[in-house]
Amino acid sequence: MFGPPGAGKGTQSDNLAKNFNLFKISTGDLLREEINKKSELGIKIKYIIDEGKLASDEITNNLVSKIISDKKYFDRLIFDGYPRNLDQAKTLDVMIKKYNQKISCVMNLKVNEKVITKRILGRQVCSKCGIIFNEFYNPATKANHNCDTKFLLKRSDDNEETIINRIETYAKETLPILNYYRKQNLLYEIEGTGDISTIYKEICGIINSLDTWLYGMYTYK
Ligand code: AMP
Repeated sequence: MFGPPGAGKGTQSDNLAKNFNLFKISTGDLLREEINKKSELGIKIKYIIDEGKLASDEITNNLVSKIISDKKYFDRLIFDGYPRNLDQAKTLDVMIKKYNQKISCVMNLKVNEKVITKRILGRQVCSKCGIIFNEFYNPATKANHNCDTKFLLKRSDDNEETIINRIETYAKETLPILNYYRKQNLLYEIEGTGDISTIYKEICGIINSLDTWLYGMYTYK
């Protein structure tokens, strides 16, 4: 799942994971887990994330490798926020080949800068259940969230200053990957500005059109 920061990659991946019995792998979440451990590595990562830059390929690829090599996740992964540059994309190709898997499709959520800034500034993540909400577009209510509101937190990199750097990093490092996947006929472009359920319907339409995907569903479900 591709797109600029705040495009809705996490929200849409969570929906897919839930409804299609898949596993979402967010490298951002994996890196934040390291930060929460307060290890030496975690402190370094926090500094990089708060600057809006990318963590090193070595750290990120190692985290992903542990997941891809785990049989529990075989053929059932959605990557959210990975790969983030061309080198990571090439490393991913090597890893999936090694573990006998393949990429079914790559979805790019297209959202303009004004909308992503508002989405990022409104984002709240429940530290208990992990659900992502948005103060402006999709607020937590008693109907959609069971945990206490005290668990709703803002990410330390979701501030106006870091957003500028994150968008810059995305344009410079991540955008070139889209061409890499376009050339392999794996890329699907999705208008990501509308409401969550409309975008999700479009994503499901694409998934249901993938023969390989259906084959995988029936084989491994
Ligand atoms: P995200 O949760 O995807 O918005 O990622 C938050 C931050 O984690 C990014 O701005 C990067 O600093 C770092 N990050 C996430 N995924 C990667 C990755 N694949 N490679 C390097 N850094 C990453």
